[in-house]
Amino acid sequence: MNLSERINEIWKQLHSIPEPAFCEFKTAAFAANILRQAGYEVCEEVGGTGVVGLLDSKKDGPVVGLRSDMDCLLFTEGDKKIGIHACGHDAHMAIVLTVAELIAKKGITCGKVKIIMQPAEEIGCGAKALLATGIIDDIDCLFGLHLMPEDLASSGQIVAQVHWTAATLLEAKITGRTAHGSMPHLGINAIDVGCSIVNSINALHMNPLEGWSLKTTRFRTGEGALNAICDFAELGFDLRTTKNSEMELLKKKVIHIIKNTAELYGAKAEVEQIGDCPGSEDDPELLELIKKSITNEVGSTGLILERTTTVGEDFNFYKQLRPELKTGFIGLGCALTPGLHDRNMHFNHADLIHGVNVLYNLVLSSLNCKNFKK
Ligand SMILES: [Zn+2]
Ligand SMILES: [Zn+2]
Repeated sequence: MNLSERINEIWKQLHSIPEPAFCEFKTAAFAANILRQAGYEVCEEVGGTGVVGLLDSKKDGPVVGLRSDMDCLLFTEGDKKIGIHACGHDAHMAIVLTVAELIAKKGITCGKVKIIMQPAEEIGCGAKALLATGIIDDIDCLFGLHLMPEDLASSGQIVAQVHWTAATLLEAKITGRTAHGSMPHLGINAIDVGCSIVNSINALHMNPLEGWSLKTTRFRTGEGALNAICDFAELGFDLRTTKNSEMELLKKKVIHIIKNTAELYGAKAEVEQIGDCPGSEDDPELLELIKKSITNEVGSTGLILERTTTVGEDFNFYKQLRPELKTGFIGLGCALTPGLHDRNMHFNHADLIHGVNVLYNLVLSSLNCKNFKK
């Protein structure tokens, strides 16, 4: 069986057992089995359902990590929820596991290789769960990969640097005061407060030279009597910026508006951060190796230096929480349509081999790069 056939065989197996965040039990067992058979020392149930494989040359050198996400997305079909690998994490696993086999087969002469099969990327919690176990602590450089939708990279093209956006979700609970509908002056109408907050949020501005967006994504209020003043509203907001520093500023402004608008009406506002995901931080040193590895595989015409996307990726937590870690993230063009998170998402499987070759070369060149050892 050649490499392309092997990738597809692994992909087919994983594609048939899609499992959502922190439920990747069969997926994890399958990955652990492949790694063990290839000669890796395997840890299971890392940070929940994560799997980590270690290959040690027993010689000095850097620890190079390859990370794949594992979870699928859930879709509603009638009254059932079904899992579908609509974000391509099955393809990422197939690539990383094939690279792992190739590395073990050809052997390494220095350092260590760690294969990180990370759960729960889609809910933004998997990377943090793995970081908390300390399993990332000895890694010097870590690489990730994602299939790119067609508008970012086509078949035969590979992106050297994917800039994932910083994303934050906020929830605000507004408490007013109820009163009889005939006596609105005795109440504080939470719907009025909420509307005012939405309008003020829409009038907020950030530096137009930076990428940012801010949307109200939820507005729920009490469903009380039609002749009573409503005392409760819940609002949700989705904040995105291309730079992490801009996110801090945007968050501050949004919270300021919510609190002060509520106060203006005499209402109370509680704001809670429901989730966040940092944006990408670049490592110029790794970028040179990545560019070389991509050019070797698809030539200079296939190399795309960078792409910015408004999507978040929890891989960025590794860098945010371990700033000394060197990270690189590659985008693989594969004629992917209609788009990620679309249940009909499909791509050109013949392009997956490019992902394998680029990551394999990157691991070898990083192992031999003495600068990467702490
Ligand atoms: Zn996704
Ligand atoms: Zn994804």
